Amino acid sequence: MTVFRVREEKFLTVTDNGHGQRYLIMLIKLGKENLQSEFVKLVERISGEELANCYQCGNCTGGCPVSFAMDFGPREIIRLLQLGQEDAVKKANSPWLCVGCLQCYCRCPKGVSAAKILEALRQMTLRKGEDHEKIREIPFPFLKNAPQQAIVCGFRKFVS
Ligand code: SF4
Ligand code: SF4
Repeated sequence: MTVFRVREEKFLTVTDNGHGQRYLIMLIKLGKENLQSEFVKLVERISGEELANCYQCGNCTGGCPVSFAMDFGPREIIRLLQLGQEDAVKKANSPWLCVGCLQCYCRCPKGVSAAKILEALRQMTLRKGEDHEKIREIPFPFLKNAPQQAIVCGFRKFVS
């Protein structure tokens, strides 16, 4: 096992499972400052969700039709927020791939809406005048054959 010291409170660990597969593990020191950061508080305020309610069962990601293409599925996004990993959340494509189907909310035993949390993250970007999807640049032939939900979802992301 090799341990790389990255910062005082973070360590990257490379482990071998005995079958030649290696894993990177990041240990994160939890602190109130992470859980109560301005970024996390804003996500909670816009979404109306309390991140601590999620107990990480994974039902949301299990039912999400696009989690396979997301950098982090809905469960992981919530976990990253719980851990105050603002940078990782900001870089993730997940909020922009969510099609707003609410499958995650329907499946959540705790009544947490990952969809609202992802929507809040989109709004936080759009309200700064930034955007991820360039709707105007999507080729017409693609739009013509896209499912209706993709089009409706795309235009929802166009407004803030
Ligand atoms: S609303 Fe978004 S995050 Fe939730 S299941 Fe649908 S696509 Fe996935
Ligand atoms: S289904 Fe609900 S409690 Fe389970 S991981 Fe998703 S948000 Fe959290």
